[in-house]
Amino acid sequence: RAKDIIRGDAVEYTHEIEKETHQRMLMLQGLRKAHAEHELFMVYQPQIDLNTGKINGLEALIRWKTHNGTMIPPDQFIPVAESSGLIVQLGEWIMCSALRDLEHLENRYALGLQMGINISPVQFRHPNFLNTIKTELNKFNLSRNQVEFEITESVAMMDIDTVRATLKQIHDLGAQVAIDDFGTGFSCLSYLETLHFDRLKIDKSFIDKMSNENAGTYIPEMIINLGRDLDMSVIAEGVETQEQVSRLKGLNCFEAQGYFFGKPMDMKSLEIWLDGHIAKQG
Ligand code: C2E
Ligand code: MG
Ligand code: MG
Ligand code: MG
Repeated sequence: RAKDIIRGDAVEYTHEIEKETHQRMLMLQGLRKAHAEHELFMVYQPQIDLNTGKINGLEALIRWKTHNGTMIPPDQFIPVAESSGLIVQLGEWIMCSALRDLEHLENRYALGLQMGINISPVQFRHPNFLNTIKTELNKFNLSRNQVEFEITESVAMMDIDTVRATLKQIHDLGAQVAIDDFGTGFSCLSYLETLHFDRLKIDKSFIDKMSNENAGTYIPEMIINLGRDLDMSVIAEGVETQEQVSRLKGLNCFEAQGYFFGKPMDMKSLEIWLDGHIAKQG
C-alpha cells in the first residue's frame, strides 16, 4: 500500500516536471516571437534625491505585452530567457534601447540623468559581455558615468577574481556598477570590502518593514552605514510611503525609488511625468 502511494507520487511528480518543462518551452517560443514581433518594450522608474526632491536617474525595466493585451511579468520570463541563453541577445537589445532612450531624454531635457540597467548573471559571465557594453556605449552620445549596471548580490559573490576583473573593465570604460536587491543574498562582507561597487540598492523587503513606527530599521541602517564606510552610495528600492521617506532620511539615506515617487513608465508617460516634475521642481 505504502508502495502504491509512493509510486503514485512519483508518477504525479514526473507529470508535474513534464508539464513544467512544456510550459517553459512554450514560454521560450512565445518570448522569441515576442522579441521578433515587438511585443517587448522598456519602462523607466525615476530615482529621486531625497534632499532636493529632484530626479537623479532612472532604472530600465523590461515589459512584455502580448498582442491580445496580456502583461507577462519579467519575474516569469527572464528566468526562461536565462536558462535558454536568449538573455544574451535580449540583454543587448535592452542595453541598446535604454541608452537610446536616455540619449533622447538628454537631448530633450539635459538633466544629466543616470540610467540603471539590470544585468542577468548569464550576461555578466558571458565572454562577450565587455564587448557588448563597449559597442553599445559607442553608439550613443552619453557621458559614460551616466550608465550604471545592476547586478544581484549572488552574482557579486560568484567567483571573486572574475568579478573583480569584470568590475575593473567596466570602470575602465567609465561606467558604474550597483548591487541590486542588497541584503537578500547573504553576501560575505569581507569579499564585498575587496570589490569596488559604486552603489548598494537596499531590497524592497527591508523597506516594506519600515512602515510601522520604530520597527524594521535595523537592516536598512546597517546597510546605509556599510555603504558609507565602504564609500558606496545607497539607494532604497520600493519606497511607497512618506513615512518610509522620513525614516530613510533620518538614517542618512538620501536616494530612493518606488511607487511613492513614480511607477515604471513607458517613454510617453515618462515625458509627461518629467514635464510635470520640472514644472514643480524648477
Ligand atoms: P529589480 O531590478 O529589483 O527591480 C525592481 C522591481 O520592483 C521592479 O519590478 C519594479 O517595478 C518594482 N518596484 C519598484 N518600486 C516599487 C514599489 O514601490 N512597490 C512595488 N510593489 N514594486 C516596486 P519588475 O519590473 O516586475 O521587475 C522584477 C525583476 O525582474 C527586477 O527586479 C529584475 O530582477 C528583473 N528585470 C526586470 N527588467 C529586467 C531587464 O531589463 N533585464 C534583466 N536582466 N532583468 C530584469
Ligand atoms: Mg534592478
Ligand atoms: Mg532590486
Ligand atoms: Mg529583483
